[in-house]
Amino acid sequence: MDITDLTLIELRDALRAGATSSFVATQAMIDRIVTYDNALCSYLNLTDQDALQQASDADSRLADGEELPLLGVPIAVKDIICTSGVETTAGSKILEGFIPPYDAFVVEKLKEAGAVILGKTNTDEFAMGSSTENSAYVTTHNPWDVSRVPGGSSGGSAAAVAARLAYGALGTDTGGSVRQPASFCGVVGLRPTYGRVSRWGVIAFASSLDQVGTFGRNVADCTALFQVITGHDRRDSTSLDVPYENFEAVLTGDVAGLRVGIPQEYFIAGIEPEVEAAVRTAIDKLAELGAEIVEISLPHTEYALPVYYLIAPAEASANLARYDGVRYGPRLKADDMIATVKKTRSLFGAEPKRRIMLGTYALSAGYYDAYYGRALKARTLIKNDFKRAFEQVDVIATPTSPTTAFKIGAKVDDPLSMYLSDIFTLSLNLSASCGLSLPCGFDSNGLPIGLQLIGDTLQEATILNAAYAYEQATDWHERAPVLPESSSEQ
Ligand code: GLN
Repeated sequence: MDITDLTLIELRDALRAGATSSFVATQAMIDRIVTYDNALCSYLNLTDQDALQQASDADSRLADGEELPLLGVPIAVKDIICTSGVETTAGSKILEGFIPPYDAFVVEKLKEAGAVILGKTNTDEFAMGSSTENSAYVTTHNPWDVSRVPGGSSGGSAAAVAARLAYGALGTDTGGSVRQPASFCGVVGLRPTYGRVSRWGVIAFASSLDQVGTFGRNVADCTALFQVITGHDRRDSTSLDVPYENFEAVLTGDVAGLRVGIPQEYFIAGIEPEVEAAVRTAIDKLAELGAEIVEISLPHTEYALPVYYLIAPAEASANLARYDGVRYGPRLKADDMIATVKKTRSLFGAEPKRRIMLGTYALSAGYYDAYYGRALKARTLIKNDFKRAFEQVDVIATPTSPTTAFKIGAKVDDPLSMYLSDIFTLSLNLSASCGLSLPCGFDSNGLPIGLQLIGDTLQEATILNAAYAYEQATDWHERAPVLPESSSEQ
């Protein structure tokens, strides 16, 4: 069997059993990336020499009988997460050449767990987008159809995992950027509860919404990776200090009596019929497995998109003020300081510029109450919708995105239609919930469809186990895309 076909858990077990080595697995992944990633462009930066060194170190430790959770397992990291000594661009020209002097908390955790870091994956600029087309460097292609987008903004990570170019990957999810690309690429993507994972060292987009999430080819892989990045961190004031939970141990597959809510507001006009049909069939499957299906309402859902597009740009406009050519990345020198700052800030792409303007406007004197202030109030209503719903049900099931992967170029000139791709994922970020996407079928073009499961605050265990139960009863996650070998086929 091809070693790159093993799941993360299978590789971890094979390494522990001494059946293979981390060096062999890492070299095999690198070879595969060299062969296939010209056509996919999932990586921005392959750190192959470091990875092979880390793999050799892991092999010595494995030989000494060490049993760290990810010892020797090659993982990819979204390029918005700081890696010490390795360029971190957030997909932006304004951070080209920026080499962080420290690792993000989640990278520290990966290293403590013994993981091998393969490289940095592509992202929409500052994670603003739903297709990776807003990356200042390259557009990632969907492994199931290279004429289509992989979703975004963590599209590089999702595509890499789907294409077996990493055993797992980290992403970030501010409005759907883990779940939507997971859905488009046919992998499992988890967005934990806000505060569950430290944001220390994650380049900020919208600070009240950002959260690191994990990708795996199946639920167990996604869970194993999630497990290692949890834990309290004093350096992020929003990091929650909650008791340790063993998430791998909760994957029993038993969902008897689980109450699954179906929000009527999520089955709306505009959703592709094949997506709706697959999601409804998945819900029937959960019922067959013993779950109780309950019709629910999240009445303020229609406000999620406008509220998100006031709050996220407002926070982004503040966060992105720090890129002035003085402290990070390139400096485009001009006659005086103001001219230098202006010139340097012209390195932002169209989408960050759009959001900085939108956010600055929403926060400006005279408009603050009308826009930002009202958005905060509406956010509370959305939060309360979820609070009430979780008094009735344990899990909420919805489509992850209204469509399957769209064609590259189809939405770049129409920001609103791009924004609508996250219509089902945004609400959760505005509330205090957690959520995941897992494969629940394919459309007639052979493109994956995602089922979103939403859980109450800190109830990751519940959604992971519900997803695991569904996955055990289906085989969508076992399908693999057939990849084109060279960039000439793009
Ligand atoms: N697509 C959404 C946006 O463009 C969400 C992005 C994200 O979650 N980082 O803002």
